[in-house]
Amino acid sequence: MRIVRAVLALILLAATAHPGAAQSSRQEVLLYVVGMIEPVAEAECRRRLSGGSCDFQFFVEPNARTANAYQSIDDHGRPIVVVSQRLVQQARTADDLAFVLSHEAAHHMLRHLDRLNAGLAAGGDRTLPMLGAGGGSAGTSARTFELEADRLGARIMARAGFDPNLGVRFLSRLPGIPSQGTATHPSHAERAAAVAALGL
Ligand SMILES: [Zn+2]
Repeated sequence: MRIVRAVLALILLAATAHPGAAQSSRQEVLLYVVGMIEPVAEAECRRRLSGGSCDFQFFVEPNARTANAYQSIDDHGRPIVVVSQRLVQQARTADDLAFVLSHEAAHHMLRHLDRLNAGLAAGGDRTLPMLGAGGGSAGTSARTFELEADRLGARIMARAGFDPNLGVRFLSRLPGIPSQGTATHPSHAERAAAVAALGL
């Protein structure tokens, strides 16, 4: 129920934008990025998951105090990706937003929530935030999952027409993400190197 209440407080981003649309605000850029990323993410998800939902829904959290993003599952089992309005305000390019959305979508396709919560008691924290300890877990597995999500997210955003090597730099401009990394997140340099190594 906690998840449902959270979703009701969010604003659903309908993927109505189309390539080439004039972009006059960050919100329009965000809609454009959702429209480009969603079909690629869904196709990749269907290729990887049998039985799991790939019906992604993207939301903005208007009143969050921090620039953050997370992936979760709603009570119907559908994957949701949430970005805070503060994060959207920090973005300078479509690549910045594409990196975040693709990264969070990748967490779902890689079943990271299930894998992080597997060792927890029933009812583990069903989110994977960009900042702070998510999934109720920390340490090596969480950091490994972040790099996995960076790599798969980079492939998805590149396929959708964005530049992952530019997008990964957004991390360094987000307040609250230390460049040296945290217990759950690798350093910026490590993440940028993981993306660069893909040669996209
Ligand atoms: Zn992540």
